[in-house]
Amino acid sequence: MADGYNFQQLKAAILALSRASEWEAARLEWKLVGISEADEPETCLCGHFPIVELCSITNRVTGNSTDVGNVCVKRFLGFRSDLIFASIKRIRKDVDKSIGAEATVFFHERGVINDWEYQFQQSTHAKRNLSVKQLASRHTINRKVLAAVARRGLS
Ligand SMILES: [Zn+2]
Repeated sequence: MADGYNFQQLKAAILALSRASEWEAARLEWKLVGISEADEPETCLCGHFPIVELCSITNRVTGNSTDVGNVCVKRFLGFRSDLIFASIKRIRKDVDKSIGAEATVFFHERGVINDWEYQFQQSTHAKRNLSVKQLASRHTINRKVLAAVARRGLS
């Protein structure tokens, strides 16, 4: 691929960590488990440099984990991590804004937001005019989400 995202290289790296030997089966063994932002740009498994938005993925079958850049995770594994990163940018810029559906599901799954907050998000995420109390709840959720996005190099 001409844009620096080498699919063959990524595929070989992922297959080596998977149980299945066929790509179409192997990719299904993987699950998105975390997202982080690198302080120092890193190199994706595909060879692309620089990557700053990192996605941690784990293989359900082998238990192997690795990090892949946001673009490859979306393009080759089909996870919409780009939408999660977009949510993070949106609420970082304006804490009154709401995270999107993908981010809501992801952070709930990861235990960052609880069941009540998950329900609250479902019913209010598209709303612009929240009550004072609702806005406070949204802020709490947003702060939890921002705190959950790991920053590399600071730990
Ligand atoms: Zn890549």
